[in-house]
Amino acid sequence: MTDVSALGGIGEYGRNCFLVMDQATNTRIMLDCGVRNGNPEVYPPITETIAQSIQTVFISHVHNDHIGALPLLAQKGFTGDVWMSEASFRQLSAILGKWHDPLINNLHFRSFAKHTRGQAISFTEDFSITWGYSGHMLGSVWYSLQLREKSIFFSGDIVLSSPLLVTDMPDKDRYEYALIDSGHAAQIMPYKRSLTNILSAVNDSSEKYFLPITISGKTCDLLFSLFQALPDRPFFIDEPLYEHINSYLHYPDNLRPERRERLQAMLQSKRLAISRQFEGPGIYLLENKPEGCHEINTNLYQGIDSFFYKSHPDKQDLKTLIRKVFAKKYIFFHSKQHDLDHILQDLSQYNHP
Ligand SMILES: [Zn+2]
Ligand SMILES: [Zn+2]
Repeated sequence: MTDVSALGGIGEYGRNCFLVMDQATNTRIMLDCGVRNGNPEVYPPITETIAQSIQTVFISHVHNDHIGALPLLAQKGFTGDVWMSEASFRQLSAILGKWHDPLINNLHFRSFAKHTRGQAISFTEDFSITWGYSGHMLGSVWYSLQLREKSIFFSGDIVLSSPLLVTDMPDKDRYEYALIDSGHAAQIMPYKRSLTNILSAVNDSSEKYFLPITISGKTCDLLFSLFQALPDRPFFIDEPLYEHINSYLHYPDNLRPERRERLQAMLQSKRLAISRQFEGPGIYLLENKPEGCHEINTNLYQGIDSFFYKSHPDKQDLKTLIRKVFAKKYIFFHSKQHDLDHILQDLSQYNHP
């Protein structure tokens, strides 16, 4: 019997942590190990029994809501392998030191070689895994697990059409379970509409506009799209964001090849400056808000005319995903209970082929 269960992430936004148990193949693995962000952070209920019985952990990407409980997993006695993409591995190295927890060294962090993308990688005679890029941030991946004749799909956080990052689709398969990110599926917001809304709000070239950001795929996408759409305006960003988007160039397989040149041109352009404070008119993408500015909040959905820019599937994307990933049972994660109820209600009226 195959059993997929959640230690967090279903009916809430964050704390993504799932277990896959399969008696027939003696497989016990964990998919992501995150916390729910906030003060204090909320941890998944990882017990010693869980930590000491699972064999392997697979990480979809390095956002805190997918990796933040790794120190807890180590404290509870897990000492096995934690797998991820090469780009995630590189970014995680910078995060490990911030945890100040020596037990984290008991975990064995491993990365999939680039050339294994899209191929079944055998872990045991009965268990193999395939990964592909999920477009949500640099290094983010989905996983397709094969347990003898049964297969399970885990989307991780997924973005279907990032202007910069590649999104792979898994080979057509009939999955026993599909765990799918429905993070923004209570809304409909095409990227084009978001950009139109944002561009109409930043129309005065003598003004300073501030977009609050975190280091994420969404922020890089927004910067790139706005930079192309406003060819006469200066842009100001934090140094960590510059470093992060610059590192895209080190992972050409993760980057859409047709965008590489324009990304390089943007990073070398005099129109893009590193700054922490207001210098002059222009578009500021910063982590902290400076004084006296027009703020454009892209995180909050307030209807189809808002500045909201999605970083998870919206309602339309979710339907596209369901059309591409056939499963006997779908499990939607990354949505608060109220949104999840709404999503399930909407999908129950949707006849997918
Ligand atoms: Zn994420
Ligand atoms: Zn997430």
